[in-house]
Amino acid sequence: MKSIRDFDLSGKRVICRTDYNVPLGTNGEIVDDRRIRASLPTIRHALDRGSSLVIMTHLGRPKGTFVSGLSLAPVAKRLSELLGSDIPLLPDCVGDAARGRVNALKPGSAVLLENLRFHGGETKNDDAFARELAGHGDVYINDAFGNAHRSHASNVGILKYMKECGIGLLMEEELTYFDRTLKNPSRPFVAVLGGAKVSEKLQAIETLTERVDTMIIGGGMAFTFLKAMGIDVGRSLLEEGLVDTARRGIESARERGVRLYFPVDCVIARGIDSAAVTKIVPVQEIPAEWMALDIGPATTLLFKEALSDAKTVVWNGPMGVFELDPFSRGTYALARIIGELHALTIVGGGDTDVAVHNAGETERMTFISTGGGASLRLLEGKPLASIVALEACSSGRGEPSGTSR
Ligand code: AMP
Repeated sequence: MKSIRDFDLSGKRVICRTDYNVPLGTNGEIVDDRRIRASLPTIRHALDRGSSLVIMTHLGRPKGTFVSGLSLAPVAKRLSELLGSDIPLLPDCVGDAARGRVNALKPGSAVLLENLRFHGGETKNDDAFARELAGHGDVYINDAFGNAHRSHASNVGILKYMKECGIGLLMEEELTYFDRTLKNPSRPFVAVLGGAKVSEKLQAIETLTERVDTMIIGGGMAFTFLKAMGIDVGRSLLEEGLVDTARRGIESARERGVRLYFPVDCVIARGIDSAAVTKIVPVQEIPAEWMALDIGPATTLLFKEALSDAKTVVWNGPMGVFELDPFSRGTYALARIIGELHALTIVGGGDTDVAVHNAGETERMTFISTGGGASLRLLEGKPLASIVALEACSSGRGEPSGTSR
């Protein structure tokens, strides 16, 4: 697979698929511009080499129709500010007007196409839509890691019509970090998993069990495991149907010699409410009507000890309902503990990224992924649909069949 660095871009029209699916506030303002910043090296690289650049992305889920609140206008504004040059937003990503503006682009300048998902063809990987997008350029660069596990028109279907294609600098960095960590980690290698659902992370847990030395499981998903160990978890998050699977997971980790850590105490409340009365109790003493919403201080110390000699850490998922102040301590403490380590520390995107940011630890992590779903897929040891398609395109085999959604 080629990188953007492998192309002579001078005088070429370059299509760059970025992931500017940024969180928006109530007034439509960008709450976190990290994904836009993360794309700047690729964009600067293309512009500095004299290409004319057609940038495209989706934002939110408009479901194939124009939604003014999901226009890329704030993104174009922010991107222009960060680059220090004007990046106009085209009113539509396809059609005669867009084609005309793209054809008139001068070397060293760029436009941003309006939200791809204003057209239903994007998520349907529609061939005609993909072909129209492909008409915007000579070289295709995919830098949209956050969307890389999807099989959409702008990252898979389009490749059928492109002769030259490769990945951008952000995509390269993301893939390199996960590849290096999973294939050849410095040891001890510790995985820290949290978040709401065991079901969503089961495959990642199984794959990581084969690779890590230590696994730490916190967050809502820990309670299915605690239940499997015979502990009554009250009204805490529980996936009843997965208790047996969790039990087998624990046995398989033990057989492989993986050190497994679960919470030993927790912050409990009667409901998920920031005004709720809270208590700290050992996990064996969660009352029937209460729910555990964060790890407790003893658990934080235990996890700190388990991490102390780590040389590689992968962290995906918060330790509690960190969005609410009374249940945020455990996640933020863990962010500080991981931030202090002398280790390669990789944070999966999504909620964990937000938690690390809120804890003020962003600068102390080695790498924070821009894609929650895509990074989880890599931790599962599975290929990313758009990367499979790119590999086929680079080797001249065209679009592969059977790429997963
Ligand atoms: P995920 O997307 O699977 O990483 O889950 C993230 C979500 O898990 C966050 O919104 C947290 O509020 C939630 N979460 C973490 N711990 C708990 C818990 N103990 N009970 C309920 N929800 C939790």
